[in-house]
Amino acid sequence: MQELKTDILVIGAGSGGLSVAAGASQMGADVILLEGHKMGGDCLNFGCIPSKALIASGKTAHSQAHASAFGVADVAPQIDYAAAKDHVHDVIAQIEPMDSQERFEGFGVKVIREYGSFVSPTQVQAGDHLISARRVVVATGSSPLVPPLPGLDQVPYYTNETIFDLREKPEHLLIIGGGPIGMEMAQAHIRLGCKVTVIEGMKALGKDDPEAASIVLDSLRAEGVAIQEDAMVAQIRGKAGAVEVATENGEIYAGSHLLMAVGRKANIDQLKLEAAGIERTRTGIKVDDSLRTTNRKVYAIGDVAGGLQFTHVAGYHAGIIIRSALFSLPSKAKTAHIPWATYTDPELAQVGLTEAQAHEQFGDTLEVARFGYNHNDRAISERKTKGFIKVMVVKGRPVGATIVGHQAGELINLWSLALANNLKMGQIAAMVSPYPTIGELNKRVAGAYFSPRLFENQTVKRVVRFVQRWIP
Ligand SMILES: Cc1cc2nc3c(=O)[nH]c(=O)nc-3n(C[C@H](O)[C@H](O)[C@H](O)COP(=O)(O)OP(=O)(O)OC[C@H]3O[C@@H](n4cnc5c(N)ncnc54)[C@H](O)[C@@H]3O)c2cc1C
Repeated sequence: MQELKTDILVIGAGSGGLSVAAGASQMGADVILLEGHKMGGDCLNFGCIPSKALIASGKTAHSQAHASAFGVADVAPQIDYAAAKDHVHDVIAQIEPMDSQERFEGFGVKVIREYGSFVSPTQVQAGDHLISARRVVVATGSSPLVPPLPGLDQVPYYTNETIFDLREKPEHLLIIGGGPIGMEMAQAHIRLGCKVTVIEGMKALGKDDPEAASIVLDSLRAEGVAIQEDAMVAQIRGKAGAVEVATENGEIYAGSHLLMAVGRKANIDQLKLEAAGIERTRTGIKVDDSLRTTNRKVYAIGDVAGGLQFTHVAGYHAGIIIRSALFSLPSKAKTAHIPWATYTDPELAQVGLTEAQAHEQFGDTLEVARFGYNHNDRAISERKTKGFIKVMVVKGRPVGATIVGHQAGELINLWSLALANNLKMGQIAAMVSPYPTIGELNKRVAGAYFSPRLFENQTVKRVVRFVQRWIP
């Protein structure tokens, strides 16, 4: 057994772990990084990047088939599903060097390609290495949750870890789970010429604002995706190429391939947390506001911390750890300004409170400002008029924003900035946006917040009349 000592030991080389390792090593700390599987973790290999690349293939096919609205003949797209997967892997390969072992070794990080498990509160074993660390950061991420549904163990199925390697085009893809991952995959596949049925036990996109989610769901249905809601799976049967999903309400859905997308589970099984006195919760590792576990020398960040599971959250957590572990500065993780987006077409994005949450929290002091894409000149030019932005405002400051429509994931950035810095609606309204941009929607919704105050206010009208009478 080789014994090693370090300032910071990072377990897991995904979005969170890599950010901590890069930051800490470049600031002079001695860092060891463990990775049992692929450098880059879920986001690069099985998550954000491959899914967005496949969505891009679907979008290209869709534009070919719907070009005539722009004066260009519609073409039935010639889809090569395997080549679309080549594109996905080429995109991964282009980004991979940023997360590579060589790059991190260049920063001075010692990278060990082994799974780690605690043997004591400050020691971790990885292969034949025994590592003692002043601080440990657990960034082991999450994996697809595959519930023990009756019959599932007898039937071949895919998850986000295997679907991007599938090269034969599914004739009919059944997707169990109508969350963001299920919906993104559903639209990508229908656009690539597959039949798609989504089977969801409750409401599809149920964590989002229902009014905004319904615009996405209607669009997917209009493209041909069958979305079955309130359809709890009772039994799965069949074989490769012919799968059947029976639901509790007596329906049977038949397809050629099955994708499981029902949720995520934290990667904690291999860590032997009890050896380090680290408690777990129902969704992951128990952490306090500063992401410390019940062992004060150990932090947990990203998906394994069991909160919002996004790459940008893991990166945000990494910044908190660097402040706290390297500089001993107090630093707390907040969630109120964390956005998320679902990259369907139209996109769906949220930051802060939804309308229902804001109403519950603030009652009658809540004002909701809205603006539709159908009044945005750029959206009209590009025939992307579906959708809206609504901003929840309390005493002149935004407490949440919901956007559904073209580039919603880009537009939400401004509201993340506003919530992070407690900006006022007046500051957003004072911004000048270039015309014609989709981004003008942000300014226009702030304008929509102020216009009733200006245009329906009798005092304002009296002042204007008075001034007009007296100026030469
Ligand atoms: C299909 C899909 C699409 C997604 N799309 C988006 C998106 O568009 N935007 C977004 O923000 N998020 C998206 N996500 C979520 C995003 O991928 C995760 O939130 C992010 O990867 C979490 O980062 P992490 O560092 O916590 O964990 P990960 O990136 O999962 O990294 C954890 C790493 O730890 C390693 N590991 C685990 N246990 C051990 C151990 N004991 N020892 C050593 N190594 C270990 C794993 O092998 C893995 O490489 C998507 C997820 C999926 C599944």
